[in-house]
This record gives sequence, C-alpha cells and structure tokens, in this order.
Amino acid sequence: MKVYTKYLTINTKKRIDFVNITKQVKEAIYESKIKEGIALVNSMHITSSVFINDNEQGLLNDFRRWLEKLAPTNEKIYEHNLTGEDNAYAHLWRTIMGREVVIAISNGKPDFGPWESIFYGEFDGQRNKKILIKIIGE
Ligand code: ZN
Repeated sequence: MKVYTKYLTINTKKRIDFVNITKQVKEAIYESKIKEGIALVNSMHITSSVFINDNEQGLLNDFRRWLEKLAPTNEKIYEHNLTGEDNAYAHLWRTIMGREVVIAISNGKPDFGPWESIFYGEFDGQRNKKILIKIIGE
C-alpha cells in the first residue's frame, strides 16, 4: 500500500468565500501515482469546511444565504465572542458544512458522480489556512 500526503495553503481575499479545489485534488491524486484507493481531503481549521456539491454560482450564493439565516454573522449574539473573538458564526458554519470529504480513486482518477466538485468553504479568511490531502491505495 502506498501513502501520499499533500498540504494546500489558501488565503482568500474575502473573509467568507467558496473556492473550488477539485483541480488541486486531481493533481494530488496524479502525483501520488495511486490507481485504486481513497483520498481524504480535510480543512485543518475550525472555521472552514471541505464539502462536495454542484459547481454553480447561484447554489454557492444560496449556501451563503442559508448559513447566514441559520447562524447570522452578527457578532453581538454569541457567547463565544465574549472571549474577544468575533467568529462564532464561522465555527457554527464549519460544523454544518463539514470538516472533510473522502473520495474513491478508480483507475488513477477521482470516481465522482456527474456533478460533484470539491469546495473549500472559508468562513473566517484573509489569512493562511491549510487543507490536508491524504491518499492511500495502490
Ligand atoms: Zn473562535
């Protein structure tokens, strides 16, 4: 069994943003030379997410509005922010949108459904954040 590890660094211009990382994950799978296996992709931060969904800007805007409704960015309503932080909403959004995805690798490529793309959801950005890609297989 082979193991391949890669870290991506992302620094978004906006505090809240969605970044399509499908290409970077495909590159990592190619670099790993693993033909059959599994790729784990996870955010290493508790205020950002990795998730799979449709690469459609309207849907990404819908996610943003839905998250804002569930847990508003308004910093005054949260107990966590009494610590001096202002990112309670970002922790909540991360939990809803998830920490990681696991992708099957078949014949050296991610075995996606027809409309699946991998996204990094940044909820408290404008600083360096890391994503871990761990690939195992043969
Ligand atoms: Zn915090």
